[in-house]
Amino acid sequence: MTNTNPVILVVNAGSSSVKISVYVVPESAHENVDIQPTLVAHGQIEGIGVAPRLVARMADGRSVADESFPVEQVADHDAAFRLIRLTLQIGLRDTPPVAIGHRVVHGGIDFADAVRIDDDVIARLETLIPLAPLHQPHNLTAIRAIRGAAPDLLQVACFDTAFHAGHDPMAQLMALPFEYYERGIRRYGFHGLSYAYIARRLQQVAPDLAEGRVIVAHLGNGASLCAMRGGRSIDSTMGLTALDGMPMGTRCGTIDPGAVLWLAAQGMEPDAIQAMLYGQSGLKGISGISSDMRALLASDAPRAKLAVDFYAYRAAQEIGKLAVTLGGLDGLVFTAGIGANSPDVRARICAHLADLFGIALDAAANSENCQRVSRDSSRVPVLVLPTDEEGMIALSTARILRESGGL
Ligand code: ADP
Repeated sequence: MTNTNPVILVVNAGSSSVKISVYVVPESAHENVDIQPTLVAHGQIEGIGVAPRLVARMADGRSVADESFPVEQVADHDAAFRLIRLTLQIGLRDTPPVAIGHRVVHGGIDFADAVRIDDDVIARLETLIPLAPLHQPHNLTAIRAIRGAAPDLLQVACFDTAFHAGHDPMAQLMALPFEYYERGIRRYGFHGLSYAYIARRLQQVAPDLAEGRVIVAHLGNGASLCAMRGGRSIDSTMGLTALDGMPMGTRCGTIDPGAVLWLAAQGMEPDAIQAMLYGQSGLKGISGISSDMRALLASDAPRAKLAVDFYAYRAAQEIGKLAVTLGGLDGLVFTAGIGANSPDVRARICAHLADLFGIALDAAANSENCQRVSRDSSRVPVLVLPTDEEGMIALSTARILRESGGL
């Protein structure tokens, strides 16, 4: 690979952070859609508008930047984006990108695959802001900022919902009056970039399993589970919004809608209810200590234990539900921050599954986060596979770049 190979940027803009990864498209990708671009550098700014900190490094680990900034200097996402790009360009010796791939959380009914961004796409994505209020506005801010600065640069939106697009109505329905379903008020599912990556990865590491009935547990700050058959999504625990399903770091997961009505009847405004369900609930709400799983596992406080126990119980319950959808279970995969790194949480979840599914973890393999963490005697194999959502975005962006004649 030379310095002249096309460069793609992958942008993941969250509520208080912007992450940019730089990929180089290898020669062979000009012919073949399935060639994965190579990561060369990554930069991110956390604490935008609060305590901005920039960290950037090359893929080989060499640090490019590690610096805190005064709030005024990185007051918004636009400033953060410019700063990271500038920093990474130093590392990249000024090779300009030929395309930018964005993580966009909600694609609604319209988008079943990654798409080239134009004004019409932006307008349609704006209508979905109420369905992903914590993510979608920031995803769109990054898109608009780049479009303003470089209108001709190819931008691609890659959706967390797209992998779930083929769901049967059974997985999409909510039992509201049907007209709402027709208006798009239906269960979509999220974390699809992660699940799409895991489906690909399974084909490489366990091709037999990849053909079967597999449940993937994406346990990060957000958390959901996906039921897959033959590498395709059949159902997921998240619904219309990324609030549904199992409890998360700060999000509530499934609750009785009557609880929301009760809060409203108490006079709580919709914005305040939204802030509570998205930001003050889940592990943080129950423990009263932290949304961070590591902090809870390290704590002796009874409510920290209660929060973790409830998290594992609910994850196991959802696995049972998805196994019914699949009509059985051939494999269980853990991924994302907690799923890939916490032997303790995996063990707690799998303890609930021992009798029903004959799942038995290998304690030593589990403690080392090995790729296979179940015993040979386990009726269902349990795998740990780190995810790579950004790699998936790079792959889709390279495909659209190629289709539009840019490679
Ligand atoms: P995001 O959803 O923001 O991408 P991650 O996938 O990085 O988040 O997951 C963050 C979560 O992973 C946090 O709760 C963090 O405590 C947890 N985590 C990371 N490493 C470990 C670990 N070794 N043990 C337990 N939890 C961990």
